[in-house]
Amino acid sequence: MRFLEERIRRDGIVREGNVLKVDSFLNHQMDIELFTEMAKEWKRRFADRPVNKILTIEASGIGIAAIAAREFGVPVVFAKKSKSINLDYDNYSTQIRSFTHNRNYEVIVSKKFLGTGDHVLIIDDFLANGCALMGLLELAEKAGAAVEGIGIAIEKGFQEGGRTIREQGHRLESLAIVESMDAATGEIVFRQTDC
Ligand code: 5GP
Repeated sequence: MRFLEERIRRDGIVREGNVLKVDSFLNHQMDIELFTEMAKEWKRRFADRPVNKILTIEASGIGIAAIAAREFGVPVVFAKKSKSINLDYDNYSTQIRSFTHNRNYEVIVSKKFLGTGDHVLIIDDFLANGCALMGLLELAEKAGAAVEGIGIAIEKGFQEGGRTIREQGHRLESLAIVESMDAATGEIVFRQTDC
């Protein structure tokens, strides 16, 4: 995925606190040509998996997941952030800690849209400490859905999420893995991969 790395190098901004801003093409303004290339790459990497649904999380995963879903020919379900305590039994819910906002929030998925018999591919924009992914994995587990794989646009390899998820035995395909980044110089180093 050299073109994603090149785009990050060109338009990504490294901020203090290990935050990489990619809002000009990924999670505010969205480059759909880029998303289409990313979706094709996930389709290639997960060609052997029987995916019938894409699962993502509100908000910034939705755009990427929607384009990926078109490539796979399946629907997207996104975990919704819920403001009220979830008292209804029609949803699966879990708590997630936000890396960017440093607080906990609840997310829900309706039982109508995720259940046993589903084979999901989880898609998200970033993987940092892995809290968002852990929440999505928990929702899939509660629903009895099989997780066929996880596709991430940008993994921050210097944070623990990727290692934790891989150690759990999940097939995790990150299209760009940032090994290190420096807010003072703006330098970004990517992990070398075979793909
Ligand atoms: P995690 O739960 O893995 O710690 O963080 C994942 C979530 O936090 C992503 O869905 C993304 O929205 C946000 N996030 C984590 N790190 C970054 C970052 O460096 N830049 C941006 N823009 N979002 C991030």
